[in-house]
Amino acid sequence: MIVIMEEASDKSQISAVESAIKKHGYKSNSIRLQSESMPTFNPISGNGNSDLRNLPGVRQVIKEDQNNRLARRETKQEDTVVRVGEAAIGDGSLTVIAGPCAVESEDQTMRIAEKVLESGAQILRGGAYKPRTSPYSFQGLGERGLEILARVREKAGLPVVTEALDPMTAPMVAEYTDMIQIGARNMQNFSLLEAVGRLGKPVMLKRGMSANLEELLLAAEYIISNGCPDVVFCERGIRTFSDHSRNTLDLGLIPVLKRVSHLPIIVDPSHASGNRENVLPLAYAAMAVGADGVMIDVHHEPHKAKVDGDQAILPDEFDQMMHHLRTMGTAMDIAVGRH
Ligand code: PEP
Ligand code: MN
Repeated sequence: MIVIMEEASDKSQISAVESAIKKHGYKSNSIRLQSESMPTFNPISGNGNSDLRNLPGVRQVIKEDQNNRLARRETKQEDTVVRVGEAAIGDGSLTVIAGPCAVESEDQTMRIAEKVLESGAQILRGGAYKPRTSPYSFQGLGERGLEILARVREKAGLPVVTEALDPMTAPMVAEYTDMIQIGARNMQNFSLLEAVGRLGKPVMLKRGMSANLEELLLAAEYIISNGCPDVVFCERGIRTFSDHSRNTLDLGLIPVLKRVSHLPIIVDPSHASGNRENVLPLAYAAMAVGADGVMIDVHHEPHKAKVDGDQAILPDEFDQMMHHLRTMGTAMDIAVGRH
């Protein structure tokens, strides 16, 4: 159930509604959507009804259904623009995120950051906590990786996005990062989604490898309803019978998602293909189909990369990609990367 308060409602009216909600035995989260004109929402779990409608300051009590969810256009018509440092995602430009799959050392991260910044990337990516299929694979540098990211962020002047793997370490990740990444494997880790929703940082939500549109939208709902309206979707390929690449990049999702949701969506062609030869063509296709950004794995020594070396492109290839995206941008009237 969602309780919509009048715009003019005050704090005491909101807390009276919250107490009433709790008395009914439901959990209550009070959130305000990004736009100034939006009223305050109090989404609560369950479908209780009741006397809430008669409380002062309440405009409407509605049962949850897909038309009134917080991520949907029916609820908020204008596009949500998510600000990450100096960068904006969803403002009509193509935002470019780039960096190594994993933070391996300060030297490695700094070298790659400088290169991608030079080519026009706006946000640095790099995992400190890596969700690995095998427990014997490199799991990331953890907190030390976060410290490296913070120093590189400082020196290079680039905001960063990095993954939070569990609710326990998520608050620490939030202290270091400008945007929290939720990986594909965690898209339906609901306690993690709730936890990151409360941390006050934008969240990049990667599509689970078998998640359909509805499941993706509902995962975002967990984050927004916990207080974070700044959610960026990321299409990173799904698992299909197709076996020529690691995953199948579902570019058809982009226009559909842009119609049903006000939230921005970016594309990760690196994790979608698993193969560096396909990264550039898929990045161009992502832009052509209306994505709000791309996220690209870049490594100066891909053969030595501790994680996902096969899909990392060289800094020169990244530069070439930026050049082509900008040419496309001129034709499509879309600004690309740092501009
Ligand atoms: C990543 O971006 O580092 C990553 C692990 O991707 P995914 O969750 O999409 O597999
Ligand atoms: Mn990876």
